[in-house]
Amino acid sequence: MKVLVIGGGGREHAIVWKLAQSRHVDKIYCAPGNAGIAETAECIDISVNDFDELINLVRYEWIDLTIVGPEEPLSRGIADAFARDGRKIVGPVKAAAQLEASKVFSKEFMRRHRIPSADYKVFTSYLHAEDYVRMKGAPIVIKADGLAAGKGVIVADTTDEAIAALKRIMKDREFGDAGNRVIVEECLKGEEASFMVFTDGSTIVPMVSSQDHKRVFDDDKGPNTGGMGAYSPAPVITPELEALVMEKVMQPTIDGLREEGIKYKGVLYAGLMIKDGKPSVLEFNCRLGDPETQPVLARLNTDLVDIALAICDERLSDVKVEWKKDASVCVVLASGGYPGKYEKGKVISGLEKANGVDNVFVFHAGTEFNNGQIATSGGRVLGVTATGRNIKNAQEQAYKAVRQIQFDGMHYRKDIANRALEKETE
Ligand code: AMP
Repeated sequence: MKVLVIGGGGREHAIVWKLAQSRHVDKIYCAPGNAGIAETAECIDISVNDFDELINLVRYEWIDLTIVGPEEPLSRGIADAFARDGRKIVGPVKAAAQLEASKVFSKEFMRRHRIPSADYKVFTSYLHAEDYVRMKGAPIVIKADGLAAGKGVIVADTTDEAIAALKRIMKDREFGDAGNRVIVEECLKGEEASFMVFTDGSTIVPMVSSQDHKRVFDDDKGPNTGGMGAYSPAPVITPELEALVMEKVMQPTIDGLREEGIKYKGVLYAGLMIKDGKPSVLEFNCRLGDPETQPVLARLNTDLVDIALAICDERLSDVKVEWKKDASVCVVLASGGYPGKYEKGKVISGLEKANGVDNVFVFHAGTEFNNGQIATSGGRVLGVTATGRNIKNAQEQAYKAVRQIQFDGMHYRKDIANRALEKETE
């Protein structure tokens, strides 16, 4: 069969890599893809938000199945558009994707269904929001309602910082309409973890646990990024905690949506804060995480197409999803200046050598062909991913491969997965 992957980052490269191992797949297309994806899939230059062109591609190339990577097309209703045309697609419909696209929807939904999450209030008026922040004091969290490319959340350590954030969102309208409504939220303490599941709207299958590193510099210093690396498993998610997350978060979410007439089909991701063994939801995402997908799919044994088709046909309970015992670590190599301004077009060397390191695969995130060479085209450039018998071994292999790669301005964290190592050796 023919499969289309929508997106062009490291997550989509990992999906394409996994699909290439499927016994069902004859050909993979990716829109728009990147230079690494182009080695395995036919990359088609269509925007992820151009649903008409994407559906035309699926029609004329007789593509049997589409898998969506990023949140934006999902929040704009790509799954609805494909369904109207009778096409199989993995990803939630627009109404379900609101869980990520509107933080207000998500918080109100959690409150209705008693899903553990931080206390909050919603504001449309700057003055009321400011009064509330002054009354509550710091630390406090300010969130723009809509999608803001991961930048719409400010964890403020002081009241001044919180008020400055309110001003940027509500008065300067830094995130445009995404800031029409603002959430002021209690600041939770604890350890963060991510939890992802496959679901067909009834059956929920947990993935192996994973954890990313959001800050740009070692020891969690510097500004937030899209993610500088990730590892799996995450020791913070014990079997007991996994059971609790399924019972208190995932099951009531999928059931609650169904009760409200929304069938959630695809991947649901919960960002969690864990304190005293109890999970609280920080956010929902309506798709696979990036870079968590890279180490997680590296551990998946089951054919991804079997899972995808079962989600579409609502028979996920028939599929036994199996994982490797190995651990996996992904180190992101970023452009100089990222997450701020950065230059593009830097030639990358050493990719072959890096891919030659045992149990390593280099996923491309922001790369393109430039005069026959592979060059940088984004902030996050590569996700060097290794598997090993434990986190330590996977980490060693990943960094061995990282040392083979060079491009002008390249930077990366040297401590990816150290957090898990501390626990592994306890
Ligand atoms: P979100 O996009 O909602 O996950 O927020 C991004 C990051 O902000 C999270 O990964 C947390 O580190 C932090 N964060 C969000 N909400 C809270 C909260 N209520 N308390 C503490 N930190 C938070």
